[in-house]
Amino acid sequence: MSKIKSVYAREILDSRGNPTIETTIWTDDKHGSVASIPSGASTGRLESFELRDGDPDRFDGKGVLKAVANVNQIIAKYLIGQDPTRQNNIDQILLNIDGTENKSRLGANAILSVSQACFELGAACSGMPTFQYTAEKYGLNKPTALDLPTPIFNLINGGKHGAGNLDFQEFHVIPSSQKKFSDALEIGGTLYHNLKNLLIEKKGIHSVGDEGGFAPNLFSNTDAIELLVETIEASPYKLNQDVYLGLDIAATSLFKNGKYKISDLKDNISGQQFRDFIINLNKKYGLLSVEDPFDQDSWSDWTDLTNQIGKQMMIVGDDLLVTNKKRLEESIQKNACNAIIIKPNQVGTISETVSVVKLAKKNNITIVVSHRSGDTDEDFLADFAVGIGADFVKFGAPGRGERVAKYNRLLFIQEYLTSLNG
Ligand code: PEP
Ligand code: MG
Repeated sequence: MSKIKSVYAREILDSRGNPTIETTIWTDDKHGSVASIPSGASTGRLESFELRDGDPDRFDGKGVLKAVANVNQIIAKYLIGQDPTRQNNIDQILLNIDGTENKSRLGANAILSVSQACFELGAACSGMPTFQYTAEKYGLNKPTALDLPTPIFNLINGGKHGAGNLDFQEFHVIPSSQKKFSDALEIGGTLYHNLKNLLIEKKGIHSVGDEGGFAPNLFSNTDAIELLVETIEASPYKLNQDVYLGLDIAATSLFKNGKYKISDLKDNISGQQFRDFIINLNKKYGLLSVEDPFDQDSWSDWTDLTNQIGKQMMIVGDDLLVTNKKRLEESIQKNACNAIIIKPNQVGTISETVSVVKLAKKNNITIVVSHRSGDTDEDFLADFAVGIGADFVKFGAPGRGERVAKYNRLLFIQEYLTSLNG
């Protein structure tokens, strides 16, 4: 049995240029792993606590030296000698040291960096790629090359991720789930470049936002959807056959004093009016999915929308559910949505993430494994998504290093599985 010999954390930068934590763990028999942690901009109220230094003289208060010290000076000594393949045991140790509901003592960023590095170390010690280790450990999936998660490509960035005036945070193109992953990636890449050319042709801004999608100045959210439609219509692909549209509205950011403000409409609107607006968008464009259509605490609007059009499209809970088991239980009981965003750093350990996935699967909730808007060049999530049998992955645009690291890893997994099955 391999035993943990050293645990070492340091501060690095994420894709936004903000500090984040990276932890390296070694075993006594020379297996090693490294995990770095992403960070959101539009975060849910109930996400686990991300520990930042708050020192205005360093990185505008965003340094993570306290989280780093928590790993090096507190967590490390509890993990030396432990078996990295016993993930539940490792995570329980972390939870016990922290002792808070939202991981506010050590920081969820510190905790997850250790939990994830241990998990990857467990895979290395077991001689398996991480996706296979995940699948075998949790028995949630038997990965095949033809059944990899479908990518959701974020081609236009608005809201807190964009530089322009779009309210909705993400405008997606989603290749048909019938396509094999490499073909889906080609569709995403082709549309990405065609959209750029279209923006140039229209003299629009074609610089990119936090997730690699374009961040143009447009009059309305509907204009952004129309741009995607125009891009698809001018491509070899058919809308609502080869490729679909989706949105992450991230509506909590648009909700003020009980109303939503969007550039498409002159007046601020109520939840019910917003629901009708979304239903009309769906009628017009046949959306495949809509994420966070309402504020994170407006449960009845969620339930109304899911009751009305949940059979036709995915209603996806991100800020609503924050990868949290209790929130998912409440959502299932209220029929608030039919799909869940899974972001390990919203909850803070691998074991807790997996228990949310299990509950979702048991209740036929569609699984979307997602990156964060501030991410690193990690590809762990690709393996994790395959291993747990996610239906979709949302890793941003098919461009920028931290986004394509994950898509490229899926390409590798597809090739690996194809070569295994002949
Ligand atoms: C999202 O809202 O789905 C997202 C990835 O953004 P962030 O990481 O800013 O929460
Ligand atoms: Mg979201």
